Amino acid sequence: MDEKIAPHLEELTRALGDLEKSGIRAEFEKLLAFRVPPEVAKESILRKFGGKQRVLKVKDLSANLKGFEITGRVLDIGEKAIRPQEGAPQDRPSRLYTGVLADETGSVMFSSWKVLHCSVGDAINVRNAYTRLWQNRVKLSIGEQSTVSKVPDSGLPPISEISKSPTKKLLEVGAADFSVGTIACVLQLSHREVMVRGKQSRVISGVLADETGRLPFTAWTELPGVDIGSIVRIEEAQVRMFRGMPSVNILSGTKVSPVGGEEAKKLAFTFDSVRKDPSPLKIEDIAARDGMFDIAAAGNVVSVRPGSGIISRCPECGRAVQKGSCRVHGKVEGIRDMRIKAVLDDGTGTMSVMFSRELAEIIYGKTLEEAEELMFSDISKDAVYEDLRRILTGRYLAVRGNSSLNEYGISFVAESAWVPEDDLAVRVVELLHRLGSDETDGQVREIAGSEGGEGFA
Ligand SMILES: [Zn+2]
Repeated sequence: MDEKIAPHLEELTRALGDLEKSGIRAEFEKLLAFRVPPEVAKESILRKFGGKQRVLKVKDLSANLKGFEITGRVLDIGEKAIRPQEGAPQDRPSRLYTGVLADETGSVMFSSWKVLHCSVGDAINVRNAYTRLWQNRVKLSIGEQSTVSKVPDSGLPPISEISKSPTKKLLEVGAADFSVGTIACVLQLSHREVMVRGKQSRVISGVLADETGRLPFTAWTELPGVDIGSIVRIEEAQVRMFRGMPSVNILSGTKVSPVGGEEAKKLAFTFDSVRKDPSPLKIEDIAARDGMFDIAAAGNVVSVRPGSGIISRCPECGRAVQKGSCRVHGKVEGIRDMRIKAVLDDGTGTMSVMFSRELAEIIYGKTLEEAEELMFSDISKDAVYEDLRRILTGRYLAVRGNSSLNEYGISFVAESAWVPEDDLAVRVVELLHRLGSDETDGQVREIAGSEGGEGFA
């Protein structure tokens, strides 16, 4: 091979994969035959076949991304034979490679239909990569269209460093994380017995908290000395996704150790500070996460969704009954229930909030029975819905609960709801201004404070 073109071919191979197979080598030779300088030929090929791709880090990965570039170190790799499907084309790949890829921001599981000539510790560059959701987790996929090349000088930290699970704040833990470490306070803790493969096992579940937020956790091992209020360092815990929310899974390989004394004093949180009710987040910040656990938000009700009001539920499965019939159980004697789905807007974004009967009765100000009376006394079948719209639209509400992101935006399930104090203060000030009073700020706050105490929770 010509010494002048060898480095260019090498670079092209790194960027685009096997040049012979893809016909890129032939294309390159053709350009050279037309006396195009090798350097220029290389650039032209890179532009044509490489394109500009988004370069992502592991922490940037979310479900259903396409056509991006990523560089990471292989932490684990294995291959398995896939039984060819009947009638499938002969050239279909019969081996699937799976493993874990990591960079300085985290680690992610991958699967590849391409033959991977790399081993644990190698840094690889993947172009035309895509992601899939697999068991609620983000998985990096390497397909037929992807190109994979080894990167000898990646600048990535060595494997000894990168294989340690990153220590993260609870807010930063997400669907792309495979395993994490964190320092957090145990806010809730309870034991329960479950059957695991026919064996009675004790499981501990609870809630962890730090200054950024809260996450549920489950421990499949004993946690001696750990109780509510304990501050612990957790290393090599697994991240599980449940209903779009991450949770911390403590397994036998996870290390849990107490944090106390001087080290605990340096933390940005204490048991007392994390016990406080969460303060409202901006809706635009909620929209930036796949799912969030036990958070608060506040905003104005801008619309009440159709389907809100009195519904009938199947006594077997709880699904809403349509025209006396359950989708699964057929004709059933439905049980009356009330629910509200309202859109909350805080100026930074909107989210759809679901209120169960308990909360619906409180924010609506009418019980299910009172709403039923209205339904039966009015000829319009939408009487309750219209009444809900009239009463709720424009109202300022704070909610606390869990959020998850789907194709329609944020879906928030409220666990509690109340009228925020700050809103009351503002409204009292406005009221006093309207009445021409010159009351001082301090008195206003006092009035607001005494009223704000009665939460709706
Ligand atoms: Zn049913």
